Amino acid sequence: MTLNEKTNNYLPEQCAYAKRVQAILAERGVQNPQAHIVTFGCQQNVSDSERIKGMLLLCGYSLTEDITKADFILFNTCAVRGHAEDRVYGNVGATKKYKKANPNLLVSVCGCMAQQQSVADKFYKSYPYVDIVFGTQQHHRLPEFIYRRLTSKRVYELTLDNANIVEHVPISRDGTLKGWLPIMYGCNNFCTYCIVPYVRGRERSRDPQEIIKEATDMVNNGFKEIMLLGQNVNSYGKGESHGVNFAKLLRMINDIEGDFRIRFMTSHPKDCTEELLDTIRDCKKVERHIHLPFQSGSSKILKQMNRYYDREGYLKLIAAARERLPDVEFTSDIIVGFPGETYEDFCETLSLVKEVKFTSLFTFIYSPREGTPAAVMPDPISREEKGKWFDELLKTQDEISKELNLSLVGKTVRVLCEEKTSEGLICGKSEYYSSVCFEGSDDMIGNFVAVRIEKYHNNTLYGAVIN
Ligand code: SF4
Repeated sequence: MTLNEKTNNYLPEQCAYAKRVQAILAERGVQNPQAHIVTFGCQQNVSDSERIKGMLLLCGYSLTEDITKADFILFNTCAVRGHAEDRVYGNVGATKKYKKANPNLLVSVCGCMAQQQSVADKFYKSYPYVDIVFGTQQHHRLPEFIYRRLTSKRVYELTLDNANIVEHVPISRDGTLKGWLPIMYGCNNFCTYCIVPYVRGRERSRDPQEIIKEATDMVNNGFKEIMLLGQNVNSYGKGESHGVNFAKLLRMINDIEGDFRIRFMTSHPKDCTEELLDTIRDCKKVERHIHLPFQSGSSKILKQMNRYYDREGYLKLIAAARERLPDVEFTSDIIVGFPGETYEDFCETLSLVKEVKFTSLFTFIYSPREGTPAAVMPDPISREEKGKWFDELLKTQDEISKELNLSLVGKTVRVLCEEKTSEGLICGKSEYYSSVCFEGSDDMIGNFVAVRIEKYHNNTLYGAVIN
């Protein structure tokens, strides 16, 4: 893994801290310091971790998969679900023994969970071996935090200023073929079940020219898929003076020379405009797949979720998209068992799933998050009952996925070849987001090939390359 982006413009004071960190580690006899990063949660966190890794490389660390060899361990945390939080406490607790073995080891916790004051306080009081805690908007200061800890007290930095976007942070990307490109941060929507606006702050969009520069660098470095990221990616540009909205940004990225494709997530239905649908139709590099979370098929529940659309509006949007893009595939997120949801409400979700026919779904049983309005709403339905609804939804979706996949047999799709399986087949994703496997040679990896689908078996499409 190498530092694959220029760091020339990175904040000079952070570069200076990075040099001081290197000098201190050398003085203390820490030869070839190594860092181990554990990332929980969504793609935004994965992307943040790539920037954190970039800064650690700048500080002289190399990256290791072996936690027992690390001189720096960082947990980039997620606050969306309770069980992920429990895992973080367990994992952080386990670092105590590594500290005993290695007195130079630093332990850090950051991300959405750490951003919550109550959680940060808990780390401060109950985990004295945690050296550095920082929130979701302070990544770029990591060299400074390490320097401060090496020379002084434990560091706790949770400032959310809602304004700043720091550019030119060095990046160490995890892959060489598919890469994340954050275009905006935060969220203004305040869905009543969601903690994100409280821990990631208000929406801020990156400057379009910075995004184009980063996307161009990625393409020039051989990336074949760029995933544009944001908590609410299609509200990109709102409130910014540059006048570039998400549709315009897509057109600008589509115009970058090279053979690559563009994906984006996560979209909010309220910001999925006709202009955006026209843009997806017109831009050949934008994939024919839209992830459009609807969360519930009941207008009553959508109102309680504060989602700004109703069942009818969502279905109209799907129809408008299919009118322009007859072959577009949809995926979605669904929450089962939101407080106050009845079986009748759930049946409306089921009927919407049957009507739209999503390729796949990300389904969750509602999990209360402290500090959100939904966490204090009456919730009389038992977890066991919600589990039955959930199973019914999965069964319905399995049948739909099978039907949709079988309908692809005989069609030709364009696949980005990503890897070779243990059975020797080449696998990759089509422009519709489906996984496809076929016989091929190693030199196909990293390239696009046309594949005619021959069969669907065990949740996988199989095909043959055509010339
Ligand atoms: S749109 Fe809603 S669910 Fe998505 S990040 Fe914003 S508040 Fe959370």
